[in-house]
Amino acid sequence: MARYTGPVCRLCRREGEKLFLKGSKCARAGCPITKRVSGGNKRRGGGTVNAPGQHGDARKKMSEYGLQLRQKQKAKRIYGVLETQFKNYFGEAERVKGITGENLLKALELRLDNVVYRLGYGRSRSEARQVVRHNHIRVNGKKVNIPSYQVKVGDMISLKDTSKDMQRFKDILDVTESRIVPAWLSADHPNLSGKINAIPTREQIDTQVNETLIVELYSK
Ligand code: SF4
Repeated sequence: MARYTGPVCRLCRREGEKLFLKGSKCARAGCPITKRVSGGNKRRGGGTVNAPGQHGDARKKMSEYGLQLRQKQKAKRIYGVLETQFKNYFGEAERVKGITGENLLKALELRLDNVVYRLGYGRSRSEARQVVRHNHIRVNGKKVNIPSYQVKVGDMISLKDTSKDMQRFKDILDVTESRIVPAWLSADHPNLSGKINAIPTREQIDTQVNETLIVELYSK
């Protein structure tokens, strides 16, 4: 499945906020959003975050459509999903019982790459995606290398035995150890594994996205 391979900080600048796409680098002072928000020359955009590009400085009042579009783009960027796949998630969210917006976020959360990230085996979702793609992950003991694979309640996620001793995962855990694992998952860091305890509720999904606006956008 295709993925975005361009400069990622540009995506955060476009949304005007930190989307945490680069793992530990996002917490450093060098993050372009942190630098912009925390000061600098006001006349040159210090204190505010301008969109990238030639007209990024232009202060425009956003239309209703613009607000809806931005929420969709933000969700796509956070979860690393491209347009067609996102639309498919939405179609499925509409089809199943429940609140469409919440169904959409739950389906995105239940992607294997997101679960690997949430468990702390990737510093960012893109790193978690690579961990999955490179055959390090087992679901219920079987190799799964599809980042979009939908996990189910009761699934056991673990690293391949020969990957467990890799320095790479020690380095990853050094960074992610303090990250709070949501209650719908349980992580066993000493054994580099984890379990899906439940389908996440909306309250357990900390992604800062207004899913109602996404539903409105697709309902036009
Ligand atoms: Fe770049 Fe991370 Fe900062 Fe976003 S939050 S601008 S990805 S360093």
